[in-house]
Amino acid sequence: MDQKENTITHRLGISRRNFIKLALGGAIGVTLSPLPWKLMDDTAIFTQNLPWVPVPETGEFTYANTLCTLCPGGCGIKVRKVDERAVKIEGRTDFPVNPGGLCPQGMGGLQILYNEQVRFTGPMKRTGERGAGAFQSISWDEAMKTLAERISGLRGNIKSLAAIDGNMKGSTMSVMIERLLNALGTGNYIRIQSSQDTDDTAAYLMTGTQGTVTCDLENSDYILSFGSGLLEGWGAPGRVINAWGLWRSGDMKNKVKVVQVEPRASNTASKADKWVPAKPGTEAALALSICHVLISEGLYDAGFMERYGYGFSDFKSPDGIGHKGFKTLVLEKYSPEKAAEITGIDAIEIRDIARGFAKAKAPVAICGRGKGSQYGSLYESMAVLSLNAMAGQINRKGGIFIHDTLPFSALPEIKGDAKETLLGAGGVYPFSNGLLDNLSASILKEKASPIDTMLVFSANPAFTTPDGGDLRKALSSIPFIVSFSPYRDETAMMADLILPDHAYLEKIDDIVWPRGLQYPLYGVSTPVVKPLYDTKNSGDAILELAKLIGGRVKDAFPWSGYEEVLKARANGICEAWKGASAFEGESFPWESMQESDIASSDYNSFDDMWKRIKKNGLWYRPVYPSRDNIFRTASSGFEFYSTTIESAIKGTDPRALGIKASGDEICMPHFEDTSDKDSPAFPLRMYPYEMINLASGWSPDPPYINKTLFDDQLIKDLSYVEINPDTAKEYGIKQGDSIFIESSGGKVQALVNLFEGAMPGIVFMPLGFGHRAYDDFLKGKGANPNDIIIGARDPLSGHAVWWDTPVRLIKA
Ligand code: SF4
Repeated sequence: MDQKENTITHRLGISRRNFIKLALGGAIGVTLSPLPWKLMDDTAIFTQNLPWVPVPETGEFTYANTLCTLCPGGCGIKVRKVDERAVKIEGRTDFPVNPGGLCPQGMGGLQILYNEQVRFTGPMKRTGERGAGAFQSISWDEAMKTLAERISGLRGNIKSLAAIDGNMKGSTMSVMIERLLNALGTGNYIRIQSSQDTDDTAAYLMTGTQGTVTCDLENSDYILSFGSGLLEGWGAPGRVINAWGLWRSGDMKNKVKVVQVEPRASNTASKADKWVPAKPGTEAALALSICHVLISEGLYDAGFMERYGYGFSDFKSPDGIGHKGFKTLVLEKYSPEKAAEITGIDAIEIRDIARGFAKAKAPVAICGRGKGSQYGSLYESMAVLSLNAMAGQINRKGGIFIHDTLPFSALPEIKGDAKETLLGAGGVYPFSNGLLDNLSASILKEKASPIDTMLVFSANPAFTTPDGGDLRKALSSIPFIVSFSPYRDETAMMADLILPDHAYLEKIDDIVWPRGLQYPLYGVSTPVVKPLYDTKNSGDAILELAKLIGGRVKDAFPWSGYEEVLKARANGICEAWKGASAFEGESFPWESMQESDIASSDYNSFDDMWKRIKKNGLWYRPVYPSRDNIFRTASSGFEFYSTTIESAIKGTDPRALGIKASGDEICMPHFEDTSDKDSPAFPLRMYPYEMINLASGWSPDPPYINKTLFDDQLIKDLSYVEINPDTAKEYGIKQGDSIFIESSGGKVQALVNLFEGAMPGIVFMPLGFGHRAYDDFLKGKGANPNDIIIGARDPLSGHAVWWDTPVRLIKA
């Protein structure tokens, strides 16, 4: 047993059997491992039994390059074809995000493309009961006319129209959907939020920059991860897994330290140099106690503080009022001993982590639990950003980069009336953006739904929303739901009208900056096969709809096709920034990042640039963000004391937002205890976790994924929950027992897997099981933790605290 294994197994006495299983699970994400070859071999046999998989004709191979858009990771892919039939997907070695690698979903994408059981084959209208999945095919003419008439009929009450959008932040589809609603006069636009939104908001509150937060992982030598599932699909998974490979090989081997804070021995925790099992929800206290050590031992970047640190020391604001600074707050409240009581992590260990972080040449602290696909805690993200600032690692090599967003051209202004909003941007919460929770609450409190028509794009909120099923209930009462999904997902099954988008390999679309990548990258995926069915790019569907509605809406969409809109926006990149539109595979962008702008672009006009982007899939700019003009706060500094929060909460009662802190602390990163909802009836906590080989968002898993699941993750139709053996013993529960996990919002059934790597007192449930829709490989398999999540609201943002639901166990 080597030293690392010993460290982890020693921590919670993990058995060798479980440790080996964890290590093997970690390898699944990397296509360079021999395991996927075995899987692909198994899969070839497995898929021969699927009725919808024809045996491809023999013939010459051709290859087509494009991007995978199954997640916001933006991997470059090469699709092998025989005639028109795609037969294999490989990672592109001439693409810098994921040099040659792919995740399991990306590898199996053809099983989604060619799977008639999960796809809609054309426009449809509902014929049976809502949710029963009975649809009748209709023509596109009829479908578009039905929707245009429905929307036109809402004139006078246009605020009863709303849209849910699961596309990437800043993507052209997102811009089009919001524009459609604006042109119609309603502000009920709801984009599904991720931890990128949390980080971007935290950065805005502390730096004043409304930009894109990224991390320079490849150049870092100490990665302090507050729950980020680096091997579970966090950020841009192809990029992060490649970075992990770099840390563990070549020049970087033994020079990079990964410290994983997480309550469960995930693959990331198991393969990290140090695993720190802090109690879930206490990560901010841990980050601030590390700041405490840096301050008390003089290990912070004093130059950064002197030059940029507003509110670091006690200060007087311009109105003459004295304020407590961050330093005083942290020294008073977050000593390692006090943090040990909150987090469960020993004070000696906290000091050890702090010293390691300070000693590293290029440390970085990151957060966003699991895959980062759900909104996180805003104060926690601020605490982690403060830790990076303490080390002077804001816009410095190996640290956190806060970039300006890509300089897209603005689309022409829409003239006309003000928007009518029914749902409110965030209710009482000052830093939220179209809360899904507000939607459910606004609908469920009324006898009849105030929303008449709901449009749903690239999202499956009926499955993915962590709210105990409230959104599903709310959707049930909306008179008319329109789904643009290519998939028979849970939300589409509730729809009245289906206007199916192309599948990802059949369409042109853009990828706006793969999540967390340290340099700006704009990607364009192009079709590699002709559409198999009677589907339509949703961008084109919006353009046609606007024409049918007419008037101001038609005027707002003057383009002849979706690609014209992509070009109209991308033109701004060409005008504002120099960049490269091909990657030759020699020097990776993270190796050649420049302090000042690059000398010249590799294209000579926008038309040339667009042609090259379509051919190569990308435009990028390997340039560090400036350190001098990012602090656009009122104080022109990095605000440990956020004047933006101060202005936003002026005149409001912090308690109405759920803030327990008082005074100056409210405007600074601090620990908010959201866990004080203990009830003797629900003595345990449920924590959902994510796996690299199980999709937990909108896109379905390819069927072969079932082959990658262990027999203590899913057996027939029941998935497993992980419970520490001591906790199980306390409740008289044994390995393999069938139990109900019950919260105040409902209950789900699962089997028990006793796992020494599970923190006592917590029931760990995998996300991605428990579908009510899609195909036979997904439907009815396992339990969905989202069905029982009843959480508090995150202060300031109001998003669901989804990692901390009180539950009890009942034997089935
Ligand atoms: S990580 Fe995301 S973009 Fe990359 S192959 Fe997987 S699903 Fe596709």
